[in-house]
Amino acid sequence: MTWELFLKDAYLTEFESPVVEISGREVVLDQTAFYPGGGGQPADKGGLGVGPVKAAVVDVRREGGHVVHVLDKAIPDTVRDLKGELDWERRYAHMRYHTALHALSGVIWRSFGAKVTGGQMRADRARMDFSFPGEWTADVVGEIEHLVNEALAEGRPVRVYELPREEALENPDLIRTQSNLVPERVKMVRIVEIEGTDTQADGGMHVANTEEVGEVEITAHKSKGRQNKRVEFVLR
Ligand SMILES: [Zn+2]
Repeated sequence: MTWELFLKDAYLTEFESPVVEISGREVVLDQTAFYPGGGGQPADKGGLGVGPVKAAVVDVRREGGHVVHVLDKAIPDTVRDLKGELDWERRYAHMRYHTALHALSGVIWRSFGAKVTGGQMRADRARMDFSFPGEWTADVVGEIEHLVNEALAEGRPVRVYELPREEALENPDLIRTQSNLVPERVKMVRIVEIEGTDTQADGGMHVANTEEVGEVEITAHKSKGRQNKRVEFVLR
C-alpha cells in the first residue's frame, strides 16, 4: 500500500520517498503527496527526481492499494529514492474550486432543498449538476451566487476527520450526499466539513478555510430537463 500523505496534509507540496517499483514510465513509491484523482478532482501533476534524474509527472492513478505516477519519460530502474514536487499552483486551484463546490452544495441544499448529482473541477473553472425542483431562473441563480459568497466570506474553517462508518451513516448531511456510496468494507469514513455549511464523505483535497476560496462568479447556467440543472463558475 502506498502511504497517501495528501490525505493527512493537503498543503504538502514536496516530499521524499523510497522507490517501491519503477516500470518504464510508471513509478510506485512508498509514500506520495500526489493526489491520484477522483470525486471530480483531477490527478495532480508535478515532478519526480534525484540528482541528475528528473521527469515530469503527467498523470497519477490508484491501482489496488498503490498510487502509480506516470512520467513523461522512463527513468533508470536502479533509482532507490525520489523527491517529489507538486505543480502547486494547479493543485491549490483544485483545492479552492473543490471547497467552493462544497459550499455551493451546502447552500443549494439548505436554501432550496436541492441535491447535487455531479460535479467537476479544473484549475480555472468548475461545474455542478443538481436536481432542482423549482423554477430555474436568472434570479434564482443570482440568489445562489449571493448566498454562496456570503458563506465563503465568513471565513469558515474546513475540517477533515474520520468517523466510524455507522456513525457517518447517521448524519443526515452525509446521507444526503454520498456516504451511501462508500463501500461496505470501508470501516472509517473520511469526512470533510465546512462549519455550518456542508458535510460530506470525501477523499479529495480542500483548503483549510473558506476565505482562501475567494469569490464565486457563476458564468453559465442551464436546465437539462425538469430535475437536472447545471451551473458553471469561476473563482475571483
Ligand atoms: Zn470534496
